[in-house]
Amino acid sequence: MRLTAPNPTEMPTMQDDFELHLETLAIRAGQERSQFGEHAEALYLTSSFVADNAAQAAARFTGVEPGYIYSRFTNPTVTQFQERLAALEGAEAAVATASGMSAILALCMGHLKAGDHILASAGMFGATIQLFNNWLGKFGVSASYVDATNPAAWAAAVKPETRLFYLETPSNPLTEVADIAAIAAVAHAHQALMVVDNCFCSPALQQPLKHGADLVIHSATKYIDGQGRVLGGAVVGSKALIEPVYQFLRTAGPTLSAFNAWVLTKGLETLGIRMKAHCENALALAQWLEAQPAVEKVYYPGLPSHPQHELAKRQQSGGGGVVSFELKGGKDAAWKLIDAVQLLSRTANLGDVKTTITHPYTTTHGRISPEAKAAAGIREGLVRISVGLEHIEDIQRDLARGL
Ligand SMILES: *Cc1c(COP(=O)(O)O)cnc(C)c1O
Repeated sequence: MRLTAPNPTEMPTMQDDFELHLETLAIRAGQERSQFGEHAEALYLTSSFVADNAAQAAARFTGVEPGYIYSRFTNPTVTQFQERLAALEGAEAAVATASGMSAILALCMGHLKAGDHILASAGMFGATIQLFNNWLGKFGVSASYVDATNPAAWAAAVKPETRLFYLETPSNPLTEVADIAAIAAVAHAHQALMVVDNCFCSPALQQPLKHGADLVIHSATKYIDGQGRVLGGAVVGSKALIEPVYQFLRTAGPTLSAFNAWVLTKGLETLGIRMKAHCENALALAQWLEAQPAVEKVYYPGLPSHPQHELAKRQQSGGGGVVSFELKGGKDAAWKLIDAVQLLSRTANLGDVKTTITHPYTTTHGRISPEAKAAAGIREGLVRISVGLEHIEDIQRDLARGL
């Protein structure tokens, strides 16, 4: 692991004589110190980099010599973030993007061509479904959707032209848990790539590559930032699979800004401890909601009543911070609850220290057809809460106003 500048004569590098824990990697991995020896990670706000002479500029542009050229290609602050995130996922490489959606776009541009097919899970982030259907569809890439919780359904739906398996686990908003290893085995039997959107867990709770995934997608906007400040995303995996994604980004430009990379790097430092606290609060809230008479059903992988609770315990080291629940009174009851809260934020963002509450049917999944919503199991009485780090009793009291 590199802790310092790549110049070994001036700064010591650490011997990899023992494997560092995730909490340590989150604070130490990827830091590249400048000649000033700064303790915190430096923020390099510069669009381009200067070469010593014409030959060096030429060598850098052709890739013969490593070195920074232009921040659309890469920037030292972005590199630090990429290396740290890759270390946390147990991956060789990562490439950062301007948002989670641009990570998914870059993945598809790097790995798909006209005629290819994506097989994806039915209960996914709304914009991902729109990207696959409305935008990639214009260029001859097709997509179809299956029940993520049933590996046999994936095997039955695969086509000769399927190049990509794509899933979220736990899913948004119903927190369905998919068996990564079982579905990866199906993908690999058909020479398809297995991609997991790891936004809900973050590497602190789940490392999909260890279960057989080829690539991991992140919306760093969520738990990686953790404080609702910036947008960002990443694709994580082997060097060989990241390279085409990087080439698309370098050309097309939805790269992560240095400032956002710096914020996200600092976010990673507290990721482990935040995720533990999110899980603790979310479990307490889910248990409390299960006891409320107005609540019909609670969706949370940490509850024994969750249909994939045992799988979640094997695959994740915690239930995560998102709790969804169905109210008996349908949309009226959901809107009444959302309007009654005074502390919780009425916003669709998730993964924040602040607890947020949203009505997926009319917000995050509002632009999806009623049939697609029905297929994904998104009903009108569904409410999604991203449980933050306020005191659990205050969150419960705020919700009690509208229950
Ligand atoms: C938010 C989100 C995205 C998209 O990320 P942005 O940073 O908003 O572009 C993708 N997948 C999941 C599961 C998300 O929650």
